[in-house]
Amino acid sequence: MQLDVLGTRRRTHRSGELRKAHVGEKVFLAGWVDRRRDLGNLIFIDLRDHTGVTQVVCNRESSPEAHQKADAVRPEFVVGVEGDVVERSPETVNRQIPTGEIEVRARTLLLLNEAKTPPFAVSDDKTAEETRLRYRYLDLRRPGMQERLRLRHRAALAVREHMNEHGFVEVETPFMTRSTPEGARDFLVPSRIHHGKFYALPQSPQLFKQLLMIGGMDRYFQIVRCFRDEDFRADRQAEFTQVDIEMAFPEREALFEIIERLMEKLFALVGARVTRPFPHLTYDQALERYGSDKPHLGFGLEWSRVALPPAVREKLHVDGPVKAMRVPKMSEISRSQLDRLQDFARSTPADWFSYFKMGGGGVQSTVQKVVGAEAVNSLAASVGAQAGDLVLLLGIKNLAAESDRRAGASAEARLREASGQLRMEAARRFELIPPDGWHFAWIVDFPMFEYDEKEKRFNAMHHPFTSPREEDLEKLESDPAAVKARAYDLVLNGSEIGGGSIRIHRQDIQRRVFKALGMTDEQARARFGFFLDALEYGTPPHGGIALGFDRIVALMAGESNIREVIAFPKTASAVDLMCESPAEVDPRQLDELGVKIK
Ligand code: ASP
Repeated sequence: MQLDVLGTRRRTHRSGELRKAHVGEKVFLAGWVDRRRDLGNLIFIDLRDHTGVTQVVCNRESSPEAHQKADAVRPEFVVGVEGDVVERSPETVNRQIPTGEIEVRARTLLLLNEAKTPPFAVSDDKTAEETRLRYRYLDLRRPGMQERLRLRHRAALAVREHMNEHGFVEVETPFMTRSTPEGARDFLVPSRIHHGKFYALPQSPQLFKQLLMIGGMDRYFQIVRCFRDEDFRADRQAEFTQVDIEMAFPEREALFEIIERLMEKLFALVGARVTRPFPHLTYDQALERYGSDKPHLGFGLEWSRVALPPAVREKLHVDGPVKAMRVPKMSEISRSQLDRLQDFARSTPADWFSYFKMGGGGVQSTVQKVVGAEAVNSLAASVGAQAGDLVLLLGIKNLAAESDRRAGASAEARLREASGQLRMEAARRFELIPPDGWHFAWIVDFPMFEYDEKEKRFNAMHHPFTSPREEDLEKLESDPAAVKARAYDLVLNGSEIGGGSIRIHRQDIQRRVFKALGMTDEQARARFGFFLDALEYGTPPHGGIALGFDRIVALMAGESNIREVIAFPKTASAVDLMCESPAEVDPRQLDELGVKIK
């Protein structure tokens, strides 16, 4: 096919821009052929670029050459059109598109490039994700992908503007570094020059941002790629983007305000209003009430603990803890709905489920038959149930058999997990989750350590550079499980979108925390020696946070899948289907690196 050259022609407009007001203008547009319709003497081309579509008409009589070329074009050919904007006749106006009142009558058509028949029509929204990822460059031509990547761009600009306004400086930190402390596996890069040695890709810039504070940078941020080699996690990416933030002489509430105002600006980009200040919940409260440290606060369902008299426990055959949740105005719910909820409850780690309804004429339930009206009435009163409410009960029946059920998980942990799952299931089933609205919260006072039953030792719940609360310092050695950290998470509609902490800035405390984590001085030195040295040269109090940028943009875009806001994502099993990476390499490369595949 004979192709034309663009030469010195410049686009006068983009394809989504032309309106009635442009009628009479001579324009030059260029883009992709979205669709072509051949009516004999007239050939219509829908010309697409990132702004939209314009209908182009090629008339055999008035511009035979353009008509002849139009005959040859196919979807995804690249063309340029020089022509006149004309008003469409009333019966051909297309109200579906902003350019629907006009069309461009081609004088000249330039064939700039041809295209193979694409594996899917760019306008087809039902293409399987695997195919979309394999041909991502075609997928990117879709208006949805265009909008989301442009939203991401605007979000990044808003972050930079906001952080700059608050005195934060963007500093780049290395990608080729040493292992960093976020608790996942590292991606390693073998060194050619230093055989047998490896760089690690950063799981986060944690140590560098703390070193920047020691270095007097005062306030740092970075929109930065992080790398974590985790096992199959459906909605995680091996490389992902964080808004990483650190400040010297931090005051937690001041940091919170900076972040809240950032959220306000980001969500304003999608026309949403954010109510601040965000509520604070302690980690313990979140688990007790919602069974989750990232609770969805868009609806009210809350668990409360019920104290059952021994005689009632005996009749109900429950040994362990029991919680109750009032579901307002749901007493009319059908039996089959409740059966399905019961089936769900059985799939959770709890092993006892029951419910009662507060009908007009009093309580209706099967538990009442077992334990009597008085016991059920007192239960109802304890959760504040009123006429018309449904009350769900969840508990651990069998403490004795616990060891063989789920090794390691205590009755409390099982009930917590189950109550979180059942709350979300009930909210979904009863359609209590509001379709819109942004419900932020800070979760604070996390435990400092988490006990690893398998390894029989404590791990840092956040990371080992997180400061314990001042008042808990004395428990570091005697009762590590009771030590709370100055750590916080930001949650939004049931997703964790950020986390951070006030850090340890004193060498002596850092050493005690390493010890509590079962690390000897030598082990700590071997891993973080450079950082421990730096801590000794006048480290200011400091603290920060990292926000999950992919997740935030996905939520802004109303997408549950973060791949929808990443230009070239990997699959859940960390494969790039387009580049086919990871891939084997030339044996010579391995040889140079001194690496042998086992
Ligand atoms: N480095 C932490 C993370 O990536 C965030 C922080 O503590 O600032 O989760």
